[in-house]
Amino acid sequence: MNIDLHSHSMQSDGVLSPTDVAERAHANGVDWWALSDHDETSGLAEAAQAAANLDMGFIPGVEISVTFCDKTVHILGLHIDPANADLAAGLAAIRRSRFDRAHRMADRLADCGIADAFEGALRYVDNPDLISRVHFARHLREQGHVKSLQQAFDRYLGDGKRASVVIQWASLEQALGWIRAAGGKAVIAHPGRYKYTPQQHDALFQTFKDLGGQGIEVVTGSHTPAQYKQYAKLAAAYGFQASRGSDFHAPGAGRVDLGGMPDLPDGLIPVWQDWI
Ligand code: AMP
Ligand code: MN
Ligand code: MN
Ligand code: MN
Repeated sequence: MNIDLHSHSMQSDGVLSPTDVAERAHANGVDWWALSDHDETSGLAEAAQAAANLDMGFIPGVEISVTFCDKTVHILGLHIDPANADLAAGLAAIRRSRFDRAHRMADRLADCGIADAFEGALRYVDNPDLISRVHFARHLREQGHVKSLQQAFDRYLGDGKRASVVIQWASLEQALGWIRAAGGKAVIAHPGRYKYTPQQHDALFQTFKDLGGQGIEVVTGSHTPAQYKQYAKLAAAYGFQASRGSDFHAPGAGRVDLGGMPDLPDGLIPVWQDWI
């Protein structure tokens, strides 16, 4: 079975509608699919309907922005009930802080000689409730300030770069509380991407486990084959279940398309064992 439990639509920083993501997943041979937009569940109803029309399995998801040891960590909530009031209120608060950050990033860009970046980024926003650094990156690229999205992050938007603004996302405890309230399973997204010291890295997994976190992504679009092995070992050591997801955002972007990753390494308990 081809199971892809991490993807984005234009309800957050992807470029396709939930229906178009569903159709692309299905065309790529995906049997079970999760939409997991950043801090947003507004695409899930359309996604569920599209998956049903295609006779493809669907798991409702969300990718929550969290601050741990002063850095951003992404926590997937899988098999959530998006109608849960605690989850909805928590995500709404994060989306509001995204707008505060966006105004401050635009001020920093103005200091770099790039005027009106907030209005510019807004032209790339499809969901009026959610603005992302990716919308700024698309604007900077289209205006010729940078050649690629990667360069926009490297020069201006990436952590510690000229226009970056640090904000406090949810705490790990809050995010896991909302996911639990919504009946979902918490999974650490792309664990190989966090630039922690070895001590902080261990603290993330131990704290997550102590708070009731259950899974980590082992096979994901941004992991190397060496990292599949590394995080398979880590999952076994901590007793975590393992997930698999492309982290698809846009056709042609990223290393893998929907459903295009290798299978989970042998010997792991998949996060989907209770659902599929
Ligand atoms: P935000 O959630 O608004 O802080 O934006 C983070 C998003 O930007 C991630 O989910 C990725 O989709 C994207 N992103 C982060 N770093 C990079 C990068 N170096 N190059 C391209 N996209 C990136
Ligand atoms: Mn993203
Ligand atoms: Mn992420
Ligand atoms: Mn993602």
